[in-house]
Amino acid sequence: MAIRDIVTGADNPVLRKKSREVRDINKHIHTLLDDMRETLKVEQGVGLAAPQVGVLRRVAIVEYNDEYYELINPKILTATGETIEEEGCLSVIGLRGRVKRPEKITVAYLDRNGKRRNIEVTGITARIFCHEIDHLDGVLFVDKMISETENTEKGE
Ligand code: ZN
Repeated sequence: MAIRDIVTGADNPVLRKKSREVRDINKHIHTLLDDMRETLKVEQGVGLAAPQVGVLRRVAIVEYNDEYYELINPKILTATGETIEEEGCLSVIGLRGRVKRPEKITVAYLDRNGKRRNIEVTGITARIFCHEIDHLDGVLFVDKMISETENTEKGE
């Protein structure tokens, strides 16, 4: 496994492109998933999308509350309710803000073995899923931000 560099900057064109669907889940995709997990661990994040490591494919991972998800070609099928919470992004350094997201979503995706799965997630987990899936369409949380919150990096 290898740690990959995170692409940063809300105006970075790599983060603004729509990622392509994965047609063939081969060893390159497995390496990508493994590297992304390693990178997420080092960065102490809760989710990472492939474009954030410069790969424009529809792949994302979420690791939150001792649960780990690998999402290939994820698609939100249903979304209900709404919550407003603070978010940040490993690609947008030094900025956090409140974003409105659904409370509950169901998502269809492929796992690393190519098996089609459906999952229902709620609360913060649903929020992270939505955030990562947005990345695959070139959308960043700053686009949806209602208001900026404190810059936690400055400890304010
Ligand atoms: Zn992000």
